[in-house]
Amino acid sequence: MKIFGVVGWKNAGKTGLMERLVTEITGRGFSVSTLKHAHHRFDVDQPGKDSYRHRHAGAKEVLLASGTRWALMHELRGTSEPRLALQLARMTPVDLVLIEGYKRDDHPKIEAFRAATGNPLIALDDPTVQAIAADSALQVSDRPVFDLDDTSTIADFILHQTGLQTSAEPQARTPLKNDCFALPEGVKWTPVEQALSVLKSRMHPVVGQEEIAVTAAQSRVLAADVAAPRSNPPGANCAVDGYGFAFDALTQDASQDLPLAAGRAAAGGPFTGTLPFGQALRILTGALVPEGVDTVVMDEDVTLSAGRVRFSGLPKSGANLRKAGEDVQAGQIALQKSARIGVAETALLAAVGVTRVAVYKKLRVGVLSTGDELAASGSTADAARTYDANRPMLLALAQDWGYAPVDLGHVSDDRGALRARLDAAAAQVDVILTSGGASAGDEDHVSALLAEEGTLQHWRIALKPGRPLALAMWQGVPVFGLPGNPVAAFVCSLIFARPAFSALAGAGWTEPLRMQVPAGFEKRKKAGRREYLRARLTPDGTAEAFASEGSGRISGLSWADGLIELGDDAQEIKLGDMVTFLPYAGFGLR
Ligand code: AMP
Ligand code: MG
Repeated sequence: MKIFGVVGWKNAGKTGLMERLVTEITGRGFSVSTLKHAHHRFDVDQPGKDSYRHRHAGAKEVLLASGTRWALMHELRGTSEPRLALQLARMTPVDLVLIEGYKRDDHPKIEAFRAATGNPLIALDDPTVQAIAADSALQVSDRPVFDLDDTSTIADFILHQTGLQTSAEPQARTPLKNDCFALPEGVKWTPVEQALSVLKSRMHPVVGQEEIAVTAAQSRVLAADVAAPRSNPPGANCAVDGYGFAFDALTQDASQDLPLAAGRAAAGGPFTGTLPFGQALRILTGALVPEGVDTVVMDEDVTLSAGRVRFSGLPKSGANLRKAGEDVQAGQIALQKSARIGVAETALLAAVGVTRVAVYKKLRVGVLSTGDELAASGSTADAARTYDANRPMLLALAQDWGYAPVDLGHVSDDRGALRARLDAAAAQVDVILTSGGASAGDEDHVSALLAEEGTLQHWRIALKPGRPLALAMWQGVPVFGLPGNPVAAFVCSLIFARPAFSALAGAGWTEPLRMQVPAGFEKRKKAGRREYLRARLTPDGTAEAFASEGSGRISGLSWADGLIELGDDAQEIKLGDMVTFLPYAGFGLR
């Protein structure tokens, strides 16, 4: 019977945590009991009740019983309180006993902590507190700090610490630092490469972990290396339909034959005996290689007559066999931590017998649109209103990337409304994508609010289409404030949000796929900023660019199947010059 404690000061959220943990852990199929230390009087002490009257009359023990439960109450009457170990010994064996209270005992425990109570951390001078479940970001270097509401990760931790669950060690979620978006001082327009290297060095996984079935793991990210439980193939087998024999039984004559033995070896129907030396055996693709066979000749290279197999060409020793484990050896790492599970990975995991995997929880991506001019698509005929294109676009993007999109709606250019929406979002998502209002103008409320109450870093990036990005932390949650213009929002998402989110989600930094192709267009650009053109490949392998570079031209995004990247230096591109093409597919778009 394993035990694990929950401690904390009054109002720290102990009982709520206990309650959620019992639900979560029993929900995972473990039997759980609880032991709670109460102070003096407790909940059965209701004057006037039968058991109260019995006990007050002097009964040593009262056993209260019904058809649904029973409770034995034992009156200490001044004798010393039994130790925790003795109380545990009274309980019916279960997988796990969660203990609330008993703060001074030395069993392993987690501390529930609410900053607003003003109490010090018990963990600071109690090494038996193995982790902290807090309602706000804490910097405690030597122990994991979990989100008080992240019951699933806390349950993972307890099950892991008690040995009830042996999968990957659950990681505490370490929030990003408030200054994580700070750019070097004094740079007027930050080059794209420099902005990316800042992001790359500051982003790290912010999501918890969970264990799930491989069949439900499409596009999820591995939280631990996965070793193969068995080899692929598990045994040596035959790669063709043909005849197996011992190579040494052949002489080097041009034409020779071997007598055909009775029986055959087929996939799923192995030949159980040993093939006598000097004989040949019918063997089919996928069959385990029988004892006595080390070489197989294909049907096409033999003729069969009068019970003999005649060779028309001499096979090589060991031909047409697959060795056990030639693809993956048992015990070998089949997939590494941070790998994204796609179709191919699902096949590999299934082939080596992995049915459950430890993955990062899905990154929850909140998407918010801002601007007085916006209206929901199709909702009005008023030409003064712009249909909100960014929110559906960005939600779809999060979906394509394998994250959990969370629609945060639309707010008008109103600071109070925006603040309230960000506050609510911070409790609900791991990262926030906003669009609109990111510049430094009068109506740019996103950047104004983030500057006043968040930790805004205005990124003036030397990029077209782009203009400033507003990056900030809002209550511990990173905010990527994209430009309102849909084309700019799209490009900035692919270039900045995609690799950053990948790192936040545990999959590590990603680079887009870049290919060199001849230009099917001509263009002249100035030095000092990077440009992305909407582009597509033609059947003859050149890249053509969308006719208009206007950043309101959403149709061009759809016309294109990728972007052309033009470097920061001045360039004159002539027909046939090699240019860098980045296919949408390489950005994880479907
Ligand atoms: P802003 O960055 O707020 O100055 O917006 C730049 C341009 O993008 C304006 O023309 C906005 O109307 C437009 N815009 C902003 N948000 C959206 C959106 N969600 N969907 C479509 N257009 C938008
Ligand atoms: Mg706006």
